[in-house]
Amino acid sequence: MTSSTAVTVEREQRPTTIGGVVGAPPVSRAETLVSRAVSGPGSESVTMTAPFTGLPTAVLPQASDWLTRSAFGRAREAQPSWAATSAAQRQRILLRLHELVLARQREGLDLVQVESGKSRLDAFDEISATALVADYYGRRSARLLAPRRAPGALPVLTRATHTRHPRGVVGIISPWNYPLALTAMDVLPALAAGNTVVQKPDNQTALSALWLHELAEQAGLPRDAWQIVLGKGSVIGDAIVEESDYVCFTGSTPTGKRLASSIAGRLTGYSLELGGKNPMIVLPDADVTKAAAGAVTACFASAGQLCVSVERVYVHDSLRERFLAEFARRARALRLGASLDYRADMGSLTTEEQLRAVSAHVADAREHGATVVTGGEARPEAGPLFFEPTILTDVPASAAVFADETFGPVVSVYGYTDIDEAVERANDTAFGLNASVWSRDTRHAQEVATRLKAGTVNVNEGYAATFGTVGVPMGGMKESGVGRRNGAEGLLKYTESQSIAVQRGLRLRPGRGVPPALWTAALTAGLRLLRRMPGR
Ligand code: NAP
Repeated sequence: MTSSTAVTVEREQRPTTIGGVVGAPPVSRAETLVSRAVSGPGSESVTMTAPFTGLPTAVLPQASDWLTRSAFGRAREAQPSWAATSAAQRQRILLRLHELVLARQREGLDLVQVESGKSRLDAFDEISATALVADYYGRRSARLLAPRRAPGALPVLTRATHTRHPRGVVGIISPWNYPLALTAMDVLPALAAGNTVVQKPDNQTALSALWLHELAEQAGLPRDAWQIVLGKGSVIGDAIVEESDYVCFTGSTPTGKRLASSIAGRLTGYSLELGGKNPMIVLPDADVTKAAAGAVTACFASAGQLCVSVERVYVHDSLRERFLAEFARRARALRLGASLDYRADMGSLTTEEQLRAVSAHVADAREHGATVVTGGEARPEAGPLFFEPTILTDVPASAAVFADETFGPVVSVYGYTDIDEAVERANDTAFGLNASVWSRDTRHAQEVATRLKAGTVNVNEGYAATFGTVGVPMGGMKESGVGRRNGAEGLLKYTESQSIAVQRGLRLRPGRGVPPALWTAALTAGLRLLRRMPGR
């Protein structure tokens, strides 16, 4: 069954600027931002387009392998003096950046919308996430990085200290879907730890990353400490992997696996933030209205192009019909629109490739007998890359959408009879990024959460509760990634750990003339005593 939707379409009527998007900053502003990217004589260039209109946004210089390696050279030269600034001074720069991002948000929102096609409210999630990250590491990094004393092998006589050093130059590769938030989450802690950074944002959303780069410089960051190279991974990926002292990659699982195998040859550290097929479980005692409203945001924010978006919903059979009716009603009421204001609820897909992938998943689901409860169609009258919020049921395991990440506004809803079955089906995936559990009994929901194999689990929320809590780590289990961003882990991964122990008086071997048997007997008694010492 395909029911046609009543999704409202809003279009702006003001004079056009960047990418033909009304109200966006002027073309000259895009050129100023582009001048911050690494370029050289004879650099090739590409012209990017705005998802809302298909019109050009910016001409971007494409770094060569050589230019990328020279950017690493400059970052390496800049690193010792950046590392020599106190952690407190680095914190102050982040706190100034926090202020600047909030104060200049209007331009940031415009750029994110123009480049990614998302709605203004979804773009605001990026401003708030950036501010939260700058604030968190702006207040905590000095404390997290401070050397720590640890109990030594021999009390009093062995004095041990655990120290953290920056790794050197960190290579960061970012996707197009959250250009400000993911740049902030990955670049800011690397800088806070005393590293310099070479970042390759995606060409599609380069202006947004360059905007944050400009604000960081205004906040006091030395220019060479963070360099932005633009280009295809197939051209400059090897240079990034070979020159980095640590690689932080965010993107799809297949690319992440390829990068990990080339990094392995150099044994440098890395983190991978990859794809997901995130489940939401609605327990039998859930508030159906709240769960349906939560599902709309969880599935359709940023048109579903969010790594932590929900793509599978498991609803207890007793609630299934009511939930589906309410969820579909709310999805149909979403206003699609290409305006640089808060009128539209959902924006566009970001690239033609995304539109093709999303359309193909829905067509394949139909061919395999799935029911389209609402949506299922592109909406070219709203803009070239708009696709309706889409809810599917009766999706068989043979359909691609059953197990593969769609990365678009498409969700499959399934019923279940008992909670063990829901947990088993939620975990029956190669991914393990995010999950969501809905219940009136939050203690019970938390118990269910601990049984889910996902790096983040949100109770009575889709993803925003963990995404916005910068103090806790975020990342994937299984094929969703290696390592974590945010929290202490998101900072400490960018450091080399060094332990220094100073031994005084007694050596840790028998002295001359002391029989080893006597020495080991004394040490055995000492070890037993140590075990009982309070405060160790
Ligand atoms: P992608 O194709 O893997 O690309 C991600 C980035 O890697 C892009 O900047 C891309 O640039 C670059 N890249 C590709 N091949 C490379 C290579 N050999 N060397 C170096 N860089 C290379 O992923 P995407 O389609 O842009 O992003 C969507 C995916 O990212 C989804 O699977 C989503 O779930 C995942 N994601 C995960 C998280 C998370 O936190 N777990 C967050 C956001 C997105 P070029 O294409 O220009 O080469």
